[in-house]
Amino acid sequence: MLAPNKLLKKHFGYDKFRPQQEEIIEKVLSNADALVLMPTGGGKSLCFQIPALMLMGTAIVVSPLISLMKDQVDALNNNGIAAAFLNSSQTFEQQQYILDACHNQQIKLLYVSPEKLISDINIISQACNISLFAIDEAHCISSWGHDFRPEYTQLGFLRERFAHVPFIALTATADKVTRRDIMKQLKLKNPQVFLSSFDRKNLSLDVRIGVKPKEKIKEIIDFIGTRKNESGIIYCLSRKKCEEAYEALANAGISAMYYHAGMNSEIRATVQERFIKDELQVVCATVAFGMGIDKSNVRWVIHYNLPKNMEGYYQEIGRAGRDGLPSETILYYNYADMMLLNKFASEGTQADVNLEKLKRIQNYAEADSCRRKILLNYFSENLTENCGNCDVCENPRKHFDGTIMVQKALSAIVRTNQKEGANMIIDVLRGSKRQEIVAAGYDKIKTHGAGAEIPAFDWQRYMMQMLNIGVLEMAYDENFALRMTALGKEILYNNQKVELTVLQTLIPLEQTIKTKR
Ligand code: ADP
Ligand code: ZN
Repeated sequence: MLAPNKLLKKHFGYDKFRPQQEEIIEKVLSNADALVLMPTGGGKSLCFQIPALMLMGTAIVVSPLISLMKDQVDALNNNGIAAAFLNSSQTFEQQQYILDACHNQQIKLLYVSPEKLISDINIISQACNISLFAIDEAHCISSWGHDFRPEYTQLGFLRERFAHVPFIALTATADKVTRRDIMKQLKLKNPQVFLSSFDRKNLSLDVRIGVKPKEKIKEIIDFIGTRKNESGIIYCLSRKKCEEAYEALANAGISAMYYHAGMNSEIRATVQERFIKDELQVVCATVAFGMGIDKSNVRWVIHYNLPKNMEGYYQEIGRAGRDGLPSETILYYNYADMMLLNKFASEGTQADVNLEKLKRIQNYAEADSCRRKILLNYFSENLTENCGNCDVCENPRKHFDGTIMVQKALSAIVRTNQKEGANMIIDVLRGSKRQEIVAAGYDKIKTHGAGAEIPAFDWQRYMMQMLNIGVLEMAYDENFALRMTALGKEILYNNQKVELTVLQTLIPLEQTIKTKR
């Protein structure tokens, strides 16, 4: 039997292990349980594939994405490893054929979907001499994760039933609550937790707050114009936005295409392939793009809209700079996105979790301190020094006493009975006499016109800050009405002081880039 490093060379062509891989492999080989937290692209798969090659029998790999299963198995077969998959997309005969092969000791790794494993556990365990269980994308088991799949929660019985084989759970989601939940639900036995660094120092982090929609695409076109042969991805919230962004780029003569789940799979595959081969410079895509693609020279990633959560954001920016070279990431953030995302989050299942996760990324976008610290902190990692490679480090924020401003806003909110949204409140503060305002008698209240000197767009940005520091809250289920919080009450009635951040005058993106290069 070859040693792990020999197998690494023989089957994968690599000379040395990445940090942690070897320790994890040894742990599994010692028949102990492990929980592996490693960022996407970090090299999780080898951590169970190599033990699978070394142990007698067949390793069972639980994987949620049927579409990726085939690619993974094909890749292993190409490397001379006997692997197969089992899922509901196959005919009975195909499944029987694979189970026979397992029975004849011809398969080292068997990929199965969680539902298949649960429904066919007796057949599978009769056919296979199970050597280990690898639970990939293990965060799917937790309703605290960002991609909860109820089928996963039924996997809990496996640990007791197969008492003598090691279990390894793997995920790129490292928040503490999810992590604890994974170990508990899978009933792992004294698992050792392997936590890799999530820091990607070569990615610059930039957030552009409050760029008006029309200026946004112009800015992006200029940005791409100065990066002639550099490929990048623009992530958009909706299919429609992808197509719109694509059109604007194409009109500007940029080699681009769009990609979303509404397109047929052949066209999607072509787009992906052409991007990988550098035949397309830019893809305007929804989050459907990028899973499982391995392109090392993506030089920049732009988020046209705020992502739904930090996990998604991290994963998407992580598609830039896999080759380790300096790469740029830019996130656009404005009030309209926040309203829309709040609406989505509050409507779906798991509304509480989704809203909380949304709040975390909003706080990140509004951050007053090093962004990388906040990002890594989210993944339970502490950075002691400021990174020097994010827009806040490069352009430290200033604060001012915002008590009076907050009081004005709160007063307008209270006097309109906490049932109006931000746009109405801002119009009242700015002294608008539009028809609805007069009809509701809002032109008679004391705060009408009290904030006239501040442009409406700036008010939106201050409102966003007020939401984030918790003096206001938004009743997303009641027409996004703004309400005063307990903290807000202290400020309005007890004169408690509050600081706001001076709005950054937006330096044109192009200029910030020139100073960087
Ligand atoms: P993850 O599952 O963590 O997202 P993968 O297991 O798919 O990541 O690995 C990501 C990429 O890194 C793959 O192309 C893989 O072949 C490569 N890789 C993994 N381990 C090593 C290593 N020790 N040396 C070089 N490349 C590696
Ligand atoms: Zn920083």
